[in-house]
Formats: sequence, C-alpha cells, structure tokens
Amino acid sequence: MADDGSLAAVLRGVDEYQQEVLAGIGALAPLALPLSAAHGCVLAADVSAPWPLPSFDNSAMDGYAVRAQDVAEATQASPVELTVIDDVPAGFRSVETVAAGQAVRIMTGAPMPDGADAVVPVERTDGGTGVVHVTGSVSPGAYVRRAAEDVVTGEVVLTAGTVIGARQTAILAAVGSGVVVVHPRPRIAVISTGSELVEPGTPLRHGLVTDSNGYLLVAACTEAGADAYRVGPIVDDETAFLNAVEDQLHRCDLILTSGGVSMGAYDTVKAVLSGLGTVEFSKVAMNPGMPQGHGFVGADRVPIITLPGNPVSSYVSFEAFVRPVIRAMRGLTDVLRPQREVPIGSGLDSPAGKRQYARGRFLPSGEAVPVGHGQGSHLFGGLAAAQALIVVGEDTTRLEPGDLVSVIDLRADER
Ligand code: AMP
Ligand code: MG
Repeated sequence: MADDGSLAAVLRGVDEYQQEVLAGIGALAPLALPLSAAHGCVLAADVSAPWPLPSFDNSAMDGYAVRAQDVAEATQASPVELTVIDDVPAGFRSVETVAAGQAVRIMTGAPMPDGADAVVPVERTDGGTGVVHVTGSVSPGAYVRRAAEDVVTGEVVLTAGTVIGARQTAILAAVGSGVVVVHPRPRIAVISTGSELVEPGTPLRHGLVTDSNGYLLVAACTEAGADAYRVGPIVDDETAFLNAVEDQLHRCDLILTSGGVSMGAYDTVKAVLSGLGTVEFSKVAMNPGMPQGHGFVGADRVPIITLPGNPVSSYVSFEAFVRPVIRAMRGLTDVLRPQREVPIGSGLDSPAGKRQYARGRFLPSGEAVPVGHGQGSHLFGGLAAAQALIVVGEDTTRLEPGDLVSVIDLRADER
C-alpha cells in the first residue's frame, strides 16, 4: 500500500461518495396498495376524510340514554325511575324517541337515540331492563361522543410523506381508506458472490464459508423498510454472475451484490460490471469498506450497489450507502441516520485519512466503547454485539478515554 499522501489522492471521501450514490435515486412511483399491504410505506398523497369522526353521536359508556333534565335530582337516597323503552347494542339504532321519564338502554358505540342528550353510566343505576332506577345525575352531553369532534368531513387526516405505522393505519381504516396511494417498499435482490460460499445448515468443507452476507443484507434491508430476497450464492464465474443479474432486472428496484469488488484475480463483480460502462468502482476513504461500486444496469437502468465481501465491510457499507438509498426510494427525505457525540470509554486507534466505523457498545454511563476482538472486517463477534457504530473522523488517528466521538446508535432497529 502506498503512503498516506498518495493514498489520499486515490480515495473518494465518504460523504461525497454517499451523495454520488444518492444522486440518481428518487422515490419509487406511487402505487395504490390495499391498506393491509401498506404498513411501513410512505403516503404519496394527502388523505382526507370522506366522513366525520365520529360519524354519528354515540354513547361513550354502557348505560342509559336519557334526558339530563330528567335525572338532575337523582341521588343514591332518592333515585329517579325511568321507563326503558328500547335496548341498543353497538351496530344498531333505536327508532324510538326518548321522551320525559323515559330511557333507552345503550351500549358503548351505539348511536344516541333521538330525544336523549346524555348517557347515565350503568354504574349509576340498578341496571334495570323494564324500568331503571338512576342514582346519580349527569349533565347534558355527558358520556356522549359527538359526531365530528375528532375529524370533520374533508379534513386532511394524514399528509403525503407520512410513514404508515400502526397508529396511522388506524385512522386510515377509520376514514375508509381500504386502498392507499403510497411509495411502495423497494424490492431488492441481494446477490452473494463467491465460489467459497455455501448455505447455512449445509456441511462445511475445509475452505468454505457460509453465506452470511446474503442473510445480513436481507435483514438489514428489511429493517430499513424494503422487501428484499436472497439470490445465490453465485460462483465466481462471469457468465454465472451476469445471468444472475439479468434474471433480477425485471423483478426489483435495486440490486445489491456482495463480494468480488476488490483487486483479486477472481473479482467477478468488478470484472463484469466494469464492462457495462454504467457502473463505477471507487476506493472510498473508510474503514472497513474501502472498495465500492454503484451504477445502473439493464434497459430500465436498475440501480445496483456492489458491496465488499467481508461481512463487516458489507454491513458498514450498507449503513453508509444502501440504507440512505432505500429511504430515498421509500419517499423519505431524512435519509441519513442521526449521529451524536458521546465520550469514548476506552482508547481507540484509527487509520489516518480514513473514516473509521468501529463497532461499539454503550456503557451505563452513556460512554461508547469498542466491542469484539479488534476491528477486523471479518470479525462477526463484535458486529453481533454492536449497539452502535463509533465514527472516527479521517484526521483522527487516536482517541483517548474521555474524548468525544460521534456515534450512530443502531438500537433503534432492535425490536
Ligand atoms: P471478496 O470481496 O469476494 O474478495 O471477499 C472478501 C472476504 O469476504 C472473503 O474472505 C470472502 O470469503 C468473504 N465473503 C464474501 N462474500 C461473503 C458472504 N456472502 N458471506 C460471508 N463471507 C463472505
Ligand atoms: Mg469473493
């Protein structure tokens, strides 16, 4: 490897490269999806209410719909007796009109009968069915949920750009949006390359490794809000790789590959895609994850991002470049993870001229400490234990305990 001076000359800055990868990416075209399939999608248009919420005056309690004036004097000691003229469960409607001295037995959510202006909760009565004795007063409007007190007709209940989570799904269902117009979840093909790769669960001959990256990247895509699937592993053969890419072109919005992008003799991904002319390979000033590539393939110009093979490099590269792309495709504008500064709990060395993404955990004090047996890009242990990426700037070669350092907190993805 050359000295730092010439190294810096060939390396691309992380931020600059990240912006370049994002430059050709936009939100996926809006699609009408059934509400049941829209969880996690981003609304592409405002949603307004075709009816008010609640859509009718209804009871907030199980009890009796009454005229408040009839029970104004009711107490434990001198209950007021009313004639029960009807019984309305939720989903039904009374055709009766409550007149003086009358009540309708009513359940939560049932429409208020005409004539009644309040509900006496069952707990303030003897629960009678023919006649009821009311032992406490209520004021007009008590325990009545008014039509439109939540949402008026025509009101925008959710604006374009909102992520549809559980709570947003509730209001969409309430206003009858059985179909919603959203930016769909990006479909991502994850192609692992390497003749040494076998499926987890199959016997491991000497010299082989299991395809961790395929699983890692599908899971990471899922956590980022995409629908991803594994392809491969594909052997290090140019035709096999090209076929695998071509097979996916019509199925997905983004292709991710791992492996085969360094300087080795069998680096098929780089060899094949370099020839296509639209995919560029760079060395990015980061550790791990220096070799990167991205571009577009096929007639429809499907974006492709080629990640390095070492699993930690693959993950860190996913975080730096792919997750923002997924969020942009989802129609989100905040595509980058927030970073914050915390003191580091132990010393850490970092390579000159590169941004280091060290795997770390948080101490109860809030300090971050590196985890695992070193920072090698093949070390699964530290990756699995990590709660954070500790981001050490390009110009920093040593952090002492207590120094402030930027961290990306990954715990938000833990469920
Ligand atoms: P490469 O970038 O293809 O030269 O691979 C670099 C290192 O990462 C090698 O040790 C590979 O065996 C390993 N590697 C590549 N792809 C995977 C994968 N899908 N799962 C686990 N390790 C991988
Ligand atoms: Mg390889």
